[in-house]
Amino acid sequence: MKYDMVIGLEIHSELKTSSKIFCGCKNEFGGEPNTRCCPICLGIPGTLPVLNKKVLEYTIKAGLAMQCKIAHFSKFDRKNYFYPDMPKAYQVSQYNLPICYDGYVDIEVGDQIKRIGIERIHIEEDAGKLIHCSHEQSSLIDYNRCGVPLIEIVTRPDLRSPEEARIFLETVKSILEYTEVSDCKMQEGSLRADVNLSLKPKGYEALGVRTEMKNINSLRAVERAALAEAERQTQRLESGQKVYQETRRWDDNKGESIMMRDKEKAMDYRYFPEPDLTPIRIDDNLTKAIQASIPELPRQRRDRYVSQLGIPKYDAALITLNKTLADFFDRASEICGNPKLVSNWIMTDTMRRIKEKGEEILNSSLNGYNFGRILLSLEKGEITHASAIQVIDVLLETGEDPINIIKRLALYVQRDGTLVREAVREVIKENPKALNDYISGKEKAMVFLMGKTMAALQGRGDPFHVKNILVKELQEYL
Ligand SMILES: [Zn+2]
Repeated sequence: MKYDMVIGLEIHSELKTSSKIFCGCKNEFGGEPNTRCCPICLGIPGTLPVLNKKVLEYTIKAGLAMQCKIAHFSKFDRKNYFYPDMPKAYQVSQYNLPICYDGYVDIEVGDQIKRIGIERIHIEEDAGKLIHCSHEQSSLIDYNRCGVPLIEIVTRPDLRSPEEARIFLETVKSILEYTEVSDCKMQEGSLRADVNLSLKPKGYEALGVRTEMKNINSLRAVERAALAEAERQTQRLESGQKVYQETRRWDDNKGESIMMRDKEKAMDYRYFPEPDLTPIRIDDNLTKAIQASIPELPRQRRDRYVSQLGIPKYDAALITLNKTLADFFDRASEICGNPKLVSNWIMTDTMRRIKEKGEEILNSSLNGYNFGRILLSLEKGEITHASAIQVIDVLLETGEDPINIIKRLALYVQRDGTLVREAVREVIKENPKALNDYISGKEKAMVFLMGKTMAALQGRGDPFHVKNILVKELQEYL
């Protein structure tokens, strides 16, 4: 039997406010364990939480960027559970009155645009981190993350393949980065996703039993986890077994999931309204002000690159997906004045460097400003393509000013006709076989001699200039 996949995602994203959700502790990744906490985020009895206003504003901003409706009235609830990562034994979350609801995000799958419904976005607090030491049969707890503000984005079950799930997460990540509500560093856990997946026989309406997979913290892992779970469920169904509603943990190293527990139901958490926090009333003026602060989003920026700058759609999509890269592109284009040249270089040279050294290089000495200046030199014919690559190499290594590098390494294109002619004559003298080949009509010999001359000029020759002189010199022998 053939099955259709039905996937929904729950995405947790840490908000990049400067302090935590209910206290003044610093909201920052890492730090010495248990140095960024206080009686409030440690849940010491007698303390009272106060909502960080920025958390509310960021949540509304994220919701508006995902076309959500914003509630006029909202409240917090306690989600009760007993586990050492949460010293209060409950998590402050939102049960039935989330801040944002009924939104959508459009994703592009191949050439198709697909609309994925957002059921809700609500606020909650993050828990601490448990570090299990297997050899000592004990666990250590770091509460620095306790009380870090989170939003949970819950989709409708509109995704139909692992690929769509990955593209959706990538799109949401990009929106959160553009609106600057989260840094979305998946490797640090500030963006993570749970995958809900079920199968139903092809053509049927009724949904099958779904499982929830937790612990997914990379784009690739979302796709892999969904694929593996669909295969696992298919095998069970085909062999006449049942799929149970359960929570599973994805192990990306092993490429498989293991069962954690039966799926808990809402009643298991004994949700009740949080008595220590007042309900929230959101007036339209606040929503309007936040709406006005939403910047150009990835899709709009991509369309602008294509229609106004003439950048190929594929390149524009790749550049705008990453806000840092798009900002880098904008700054470089502004300096160099030729956006197409900049995008070509990003697609080849910069992408390769990011793959090798990480995205941080975009904020190092190789920033948009310096990149633009190097390409401007290239554009003006002052340096060659090979020299531009060399300048970037040196720049990344030493942090030196690019113009200094060009001067220090004498990379300016060699336009002195006498010098170029000398180099050409030397090359001809050293390669008599190539010369004979050329005389006997082999055009390839010309390419060979050209390459030798360029090498002799250490990449500083202007190809057109060099070729002119080479052709003239060779004619002497014909
Ligand atoms: Zn605190």
